[in-house]
Amino acid sequence: MRVVSGIQPTGGLHLGNLLGAILRWVRMQDEAECLFFLADLHALTIDVAPAELRSNVREMAAALIASGIDPKKSILFQQSAIPAHPELAWILQCTARVGWLNRMTQFKDKTGKSREGASVGLYTYPVLQAADVLLYRATHVPVGEDQKQHIELARDIAIKFNTDYEVDLFVPPEPFVGGGTAARVMSLRDGTSKMSKSDPSDMSRINLTDSDDTISQKIRKAKTDPEPLPEHHAGLEGRPEAKNLVGIYGAVTGETVEQVLARFAGQGFGAFKPALADALVALLHPLRSSLEELRNDPAELDRHLAEGSERAAELGAPTLAEAYRAIGLPR
Ligand code: ATP
Ligand code: MG
Repeated sequence: MRVVSGIQPTGGLHLGNLLGAILRWVRMQDEAECLFFLADLHALTIDVAPAELRSNVREMAAALIASGIDPKKSILFQQSAIPAHPELAWILQCTARVGWLNRMTQFKDKTGKSREGASVGLYTYPVLQAADVLLYRATHVPVGEDQKQHIELARDIAIKFNTDYEVDLFVPPEPFVGGGTAARVMSLRDGTSKMSKSDPSDMSRINLTDSDDTISQKIRKAKTDPEPLPEHHAGLEGRPEAKNLVGIYGAVTGETVEQVLARFAGQGFGAFKPALADALVALLHPLRSSLEELRNDPAELDRHLAEGSERAAELGAPTLAEAYRAIGLPR
């Protein structure tokens, strides 16, 4: 089992990233060979100032290590340090079909009505993502629900390349979406839109960098409804904000929604919110302390990334060489 997954170094980590992706990565480190990368080439699809991108890479590396990614156990690296990613992406762009990319909902969601002005990179983004995982012949790709369609595209590209060139080179990866409570953490201001770095309201998300007081305040002000909590799961239907907060509580404490409700049924948010805030502080406080420590030693972070990039480059090189041979351009 080989696991590959990435995160864009845009802003810091939020609770959705942590529960939907990173804390699952941390658990997988003991079960599989893991490669985790900072998707800085992907980040170019968003407008970001060069100086900011550079500091974001370090900040995100520190956040991942603080959250439990161990650079000794896993290969932690920076995408742009490995030219094989964009090289393979070009080859795969010639395998992928326009019709396939036209079906990608993230492109439609992120561009809305301004499609003509969108960058070509935002359009071909899923092909670079396919290259990221196919290069290392990943078997499993842990992602949040929002990324599932892209991994299915990577499967289609792998199968078409293998068929077209009569090789057995690429491994069609399995999307590995976390079940249950945390696959999709929603905004604290609107239970129908996902918690995201790009939401302009900071009150919509809990950041890894938020102080204990800020966490409590954001939970106190989180949107809810006036009803008490129900006895069972079914009673949360039609109550997206309540469902989200109960889901977050369960994901943080490791309980099922039924277990959480067994404890809080009949109580209002006046009682539930402080308990949720306490659970979040207990999870995030130690991570934030490690993050602050790691930030003080940027040279050490750079060393981890350089080491990881060297190991990743070695693992990816044979696949790229095989791909060139398959298309008739052996090097
Ligand atoms: P952006 O808003 O810029 O797209 P993002 O918050 O979606 O940022 P990404 O870097 O795109 O963050 O995603 C990193 C990982 O976190 C992916 O595996 C993604 O599926 C997961 N993820 C992002 N948001 C959530 C969320 N609200 N709930 C669960 N998982 C999430
Ligand atoms: Mg995203």
